[in-house]
Parts: sequence; C-alpha cells; structure tokens
Amino acid sequence: MDFALTPEQRDLRERVIRFARDELGAKAAEHDRDESFDRDGWKACAEFGVLGWPVPAEYGGSGHDPLTTIIACEALGYGCADNGLAFAVDNHLWACVIYLLRHGSPQQRARFLPGLVDGTLIGAHALTEPETGSDMLSLTTTAQRDGDAYVIDGAKCFISNGTVADLYVLFARTARSGPAQQALSAFLLPRDTPGLEVRRAISKAGLRGTPMGELRLTGCRLPAENLLGAEGAGYRVFTSVIEWERGFMAAGQVGRLQRLLETSVAYANDRTQFGVPIGAFQAVSHRLADLRVNLELARLMLYKVGWLKREGRIALLEASILKLFAGESLLEGALAAMRVHGARGYVADLPIEREVRDALAAPTFGGTSDIQRTIIAGLTGLPEGSHGA
Ligand SMILES: Cc1cc2nc3c(=O)[nH]c(=O)nc-3n(C[C@H](O)[C@H](O)[C@H](O)COP(=O)(O)OP(=O)(O)OC[C@H]3O[C@@H](n4cnc5c(N)ncnc54)[C@H](O)[C@@H]3O)c2cc1C
Repeated sequence: MDFALTPEQRDLRERVIRFARDELGAKAAEHDRDESFDRDGWKACAEFGVLGWPVPAEYGGSGHDPLTTIIACEALGYGCADNGLAFAVDNHLWACVIYLLRHGSPQQRARFLPGLVDGTLIGAHALTEPETGSDMLSLTTTAQRDGDAYVIDGAKCFISNGTVADLYVLFARTARSGPAQQALSAFLLPRDTPGLEVRRAISKAGLRGTPMGELRLTGCRLPAENLLGAEGAGYRVFTSVIEWERGFMAAGQVGRLQRLLETSVAYANDRTQFGVPIGAFQAVSHRLADLRVNLELARLMLYKVGWLKREGRIALLEASILKLFAGESLLEGALAAMRVHGARGYVADLPIEREVRDALAAPTFGGTSDIQRTIIAGLTGLPEGSHGA
C-alpha cells in the first residue's frame, strides 16, 4: 500500500491551489450577499481545465484518472474561497457530466461533452420534486413515449445550477405499473426544450453562489434520442452514478476542512487571552485536534474511493461512508472554527460565518446522512433499506 502522491499529482495539486487562490474567490462575499453566479470564475475554471478533469481528451478534457481527479477537486475546494462557485462546479461535474461519461451514447457524448468541458454549457441534475426527496422511487414526473419523442410533465425543485444550467439530467417515470426499480428513466434535457420553464430561483442559507432553481415541465416534448441509457433503466443509471456523486463531491469538502483547520490554528496561535495564546487552552486545542482527526480520516476514505474507482471497482459502501463522514465533519468543523474565533467567527467581517452557512447543507444534499446510515446498515448485513436519493 502506497499513500504517497506521484510527482505529477503533487504538481497538479499545487497548480490548482495557486490557480484557485489567485483567480477565484476574490468576490466570494459579493456573490454570497447577492446570490449571484460567478460567470468570470466559471470561465476561469473552464480555461484552467477544471471542467474537463475526468473527461477524455477526445472531448477536450484532460482524462485524469479518478484518484488524480479527486486530488485536484480537493485542491480546488481548499484554494477556492467561494464555496458556492466550487459547489456549482461539483454539481456540473458529478451530477451531470459523469452521467454522460458513464451512460451517454457516442452521439450524446459528442453532442454535449465538448460544451460542458469548455464551459459554454452548464450542467445540472433534476431529480428532487416537491413531494419526492429521499424516496426517489416515488417520483411523479412522467415521460410518455409519443412517436419519436417523450412528452414530459411534472415539477422539479432544489436544482443546483437550476437557473443558469443549459443541460439537465432529469429523472421521470416511464412506466405506470411493474417493479418500481424499472419504472424510471433518465433523460438529457436541454434548457431550450419547448415546455420547460425555469420557474423561480430559490434563496438559501449558504452556498449562495450556486443558483438553485425550480423547474416546471408542461407537455415538454423531448426527442427520444435524449433518453440516457435504456427506457426503464433510470434507477440503475442513478445507483451506478451516485457513488461518483457522493464520493467525488466530498473532495471539495475535505479541502474546505483543511482550510478551516489552518485558519483556526493560525487564529488560536495569534489571539491572546489571560496573557497566553488561546490555543494554549486545552478546550481550544482539543477542538482543533478533533478537527484534524476528522480531516485525516475523511481524506483517507476520499483517497480510497478515488483508488477504488481508478481500479474500476464498486465503491457504494465507501462513498456512503465518505458522504456521511465528510458532510458531518465539515459542519462540525465549521462550527468549531466559529467557536474558536469567538465573536469574530460570528460577524461578517471574517468569512467564518459564511463557512458555517455553506456547511449547513452538507448532511442533506446528495442523500441525507440518515439515508447514508440506512445504506451502510444494509451493506453491513442489516435488513435492506432504501438506497434513497
Ligand atoms: C444545497 C442543496 C442542493 C441540492 N441540489 C439538488 C440538485 O441539484 N438536484 C436535485 O434533484 N436535488 C437537489 N437537492 C435536494 C436533495 O437531494 C434533497 O434535499 C435530499 O434528497 C432530501 O430530500 P428532502 O429535502 O425532500 O428531505 P426528505 O426526504 O423529506 O427528508 C426529510 C428528513 O427525513 C429524513 N428521512 C427521510 N426518509 C428517511 C428514511 N428512510 N430513513 C431515515 N430518515 C429519513 C431525512 O434524512 C431528513 O432528515 C439539493 C438540496 C440541497 C440542500
């Protein structure tokens, strides 16, 4: 077993951190305040190659292997002060691009991947509905075959990148009866499809640089060639990709944990009370020791997921463990950073309060922590639970 990064991975990591610090995040507070999408930052990410890290060269990407990609994503999360922008990139890559890479036909890949890599197209993932969250098999959006098209009706909510996206990976019900696992299908839905309406932007507590939207589909006529995978294979498509989404989105969270730790250690060494640096108080130092423990453990599981995917192996259990642990650790770590900074952690002069708001949703999106525990329990031999969304 070798835990060392290769010289190429170390070099990529350093270049990504430099890029993210120098070219991204300068207006993070502004994008947070205005809930605005950083188009310049998006363009810079595209030009640096971020949007093509996991994509083969024939579509304009750099074709990094999964472990190298995870190391690069971690570096982006660490270096980019605008968590909203980084989350928009994560959703684009790990909830849209990855579907094309895993299940797109050669025609679909050729049609969409170059634009998704050069940043002219923004990707999103449209699964959740007003009445359907964790229980994805109960979703009610329908797609009915009509000649050479599907007619889609329904509503989607909480869609990250929803208001700015050009392409949605959408899940809908194509069968009214039969086994629930064979009733759903996945589609590639371009923004300009007649009958698709982006209804409203949803305001939220954190990650405010990632615009969130709500979709309404009314007699939305989508050519059948936009079916992703086979009809009725939607659940299989979802479960085969979800380990990528859960595993790889955690990379940025591990990077953010490292940033929170370093910021907090620097503050604890600098700030004095009772004549000594506050880091000398065990209450403070142990809080940061716990953060360090969580960071190191999350990173170990992160790299294991990257290694498993590089080896072409299943990582469903590991991705759920990582999703659960990294998400909860990020929230705990952000709150620890806030406590260490005292009042300065709470007021908006420093970015710590924004880090806390940005961390609040980590145990929810991509499948809640409760759902991850259910999956882990099922894969540990306990009675099977839903794999949920
Ligand atoms: C920041 C953010 C970004 C998001 N981006 C997207 C996106 O891009 N695309 C998209 O489709 N969706 C997105 N979502 C929606 C997200 O996937 C859902 O919020 C998530 O699946 C949970 O669904 P829900 O919110 O309806 O909660 P519910 O499913 O209603 O759950 C509510 C509570 O009940 C618990 N619960 C539910 N079922 C069980 C169970 N079986 N066992 C134990 N506990 C259970 C949950 O853990 C939770 O605590 C996003 C959400 C957030 C917060």
